[in-house]
Amino acid sequence: MRRVTAWAPGRVNLIGEHTDHTDGLALPMALDVGVRLEGEVGGDRVQLRSADAPVPVDIPADGSSAPSDGWGRYVAAVAAELHALGRPPVGVVGTVSSTLPQGIGLSSSAALEVAVAVALLRAADRALPAVEVVRACRRAEHAAVGVPSGVLDQAASVLSRSGAALLLDCADLSHEDVALPDGIAVLIIDSGVTRQLEGSGYATRTRELGASLHVLDGRRPADVAVAELAALTAGMDDVPARRLRHVVTENDRVRATVAAFAAADLGTVATLFADSHASLRDDFEVTVPQTDRLVDLLKDNGALASRMTGGGFGGAVIGLVHADEADAVAEATLSAYGRAYPDLRARTVLTRPGAGAAEQAADVLTP
Ligand code: ADP
Ligand code: MG
Repeated sequence: MRRVTAWAPGRVNLIGEHTDHTDGLALPMALDVGVRLEGEVGGDRVQLRSADAPVPVDIPADGSSAPSDGWGRYVAAVAAELHALGRPPVGVVGTVSSTLPQGIGLSSSAALEVAVAVALLRAADRALPAVEVVRACRRAEHAAVGVPSGVLDQAASVLSRSGAALLLDCADLSHEDVALPDGIAVLIIDSGVTRQLEGSGYATRTRELGASLHVLDGRRPADVAVAELAALTAGMDDVPARRLRHVVTENDRVRATVAAFAAADLGTVATLFADSHASLRDDFEVTVPQTDRLVDLLKDNGALASRMTGGGFGGAVIGLVHADEADAVAEATLSAYGRAYPDLRARTVLTRPGAGAAEQAADVLTP
């Protein structure tokens, strides 16, 4: 029996939140934790066990039928998308293991999808352009859970390069590496407030933003200047106007953050992160009091910059820190947060940028 292995990382978004579903800009990076799949090639079914899920998955290798709930939906949806792209329905029997916490906005679902895609491609000796696999996994996420999420998670998991963040244009998946200044680490702290994308206001926000887009005459928010906003939103209802203002200003902040990193101007990065968080709190309304508090506590305890990250409604926050101070900042922040919210279990997730899946699977994810 021939064996296949596959690995895909989770991701954290440095800035550019809720810009992806209107084809905007974001600055994610891959993590050094993710999802691994190991299996044997053969048969015509995909049969997987996961240490992190009680029910095993057993689906036809062409993805033609899917379970009605659980993680098998993601596996079946990826198999179906790859089948539609011409992958022969070769089966895999194996196990999924993960070093990535689920459901806190670090994209375990995308890491699972990408790991399954790499394993299925390797099993069938098929290669596809990396960006095609990104799009297939994004369609799979949508098919699996019905959430109209953007392409950011899958793109970051596939296209990131080790040691760098990824400036991503979600319109065409064009991307470039953005080096972080020397000696700077990214601290991720989970608020302990459970985020459930399927049950959250994600779809509501997308709809509310959608109600504002007609004023752009077909342009995407990323191509609108911040100075145009006042005129564009004059006469618009308050909610869609604020949703649009968040997305236009957030795209602008992505470009400004890349420039500030290039100039090693961390003071400007700090202002941009603070503005991003305030915009997510006041205009897009996806923060919760606990993540607002954690962002403040990170700054109070030595972080150079901090903001919420991911879809919001709980989940994680990030801080940029001097690498040699990361542990001290994390410890002080966690203990202050524990005093404020003794019932929540917050935790530090990690601090290093990792390699995207394509860097490790160049045999099946081609340029
Ligand atoms: P996030 O992507 O932010 O971690 P989601 O709610 O989008 O949160 O995805 C989490 C879901 O992904 C889990 O409920 C599960 O179905 C699936 N999943 C993620 N990692 C694993 C794993 N190691 N084993 C099985 N299923 C997983
Ligand atoms: Mg997810």
